[in-house]
Amino acid sequence: MLAGPTAVGKGTVSTYIRDTYPEVWLSVSATTRPARPGEQEGVHYFFKSPEEFDRLIEEGAFLEWAIVHGQNRYGTLRASVEEAIAKGKSVLLEIDLQGARQVKAAMPEARFVFLAPPSWEEMVRRLVGRGTESPEEQQARLETAKIELAAEPEFDFTVVNDDVRRAADELVSLMGLTPHARQS
Ligand code: 5GP
Repeated sequence: MLAGPTAVGKGTVSTYIRDTYPEVWLSVSATTRPARPGEQEGVHYFFKSPEEFDRLIEEGAFLEWAIVHGQNRYGTLRASVEEAIAKGKSVLLEIDLQGARQVKAAMPEARFVFLAPPSWEEMVRRLVGRGTESPEEQQARLETAKIELAAEPEFDFTVVNDDVRRAADELVSLMGLTPHARQS
C-alpha cells in the first residue's frame, strides 16, 4: 500500500510498476473529482457523481474511502481488490493517509509504504510545475502534505522518490517481488 504527500510522484511510480510488472495489480479508485485532460474512465479512476459515490458507500462497496484535500472523495472498491487477491496478484493501492490507516486496520498484514519527496522544495516544484491545480488547490494540497509528511513514522517503510525506476524497484522488493534487471 503506497501513500505519500501530494506531487511526490505516487502516480508515476505506481503506473511504472503496473506497466513493468504484470504480477502487480494496481487498484483503480473511484472518485468524485472531475477527470483531468487525458485521464480515462476505468484506467486512471472510475469517475462518479456525488450521488453515485453515496450509493457505493451505502452498499458497503468500499474497502476504504476518504475526502482528500478537503473537497473530493476517493475510495478503493472492495470487490476488485478481493478478486485480484484471489487471482494471486500482488495488490498495489495508491491512496492517501486516511485511506491507508483504514486499510491497515482492516488488513493488518498489508505493507504500508511511505513515498517521500527528496525535499520539500522539490515537492513544491513538482506540484507547481505540473500545473494541473489552481493556486488555491495547490495551497490546499501543500497543507495536506505537511500533515502527511508528519505521519511518516506510522509507516512500515519509507522509499524516497529521487528516481522513478529506482523507487519502483525498491517498492516491488518490499512487495516480495524481484526487481527486473535492466541496463543503465
Ligand atoms: P489526485 O487527485 O491527484 O489523482 O489524487 C489526490 C489524492 O487522492 C492522492 O493523494 C491519492 O493518493 C489519493 N487517492 C487516490 N485514490 C484514492 C483512494 O482510493 N482512496 C484514498 N483514500 N485516497 C486516494
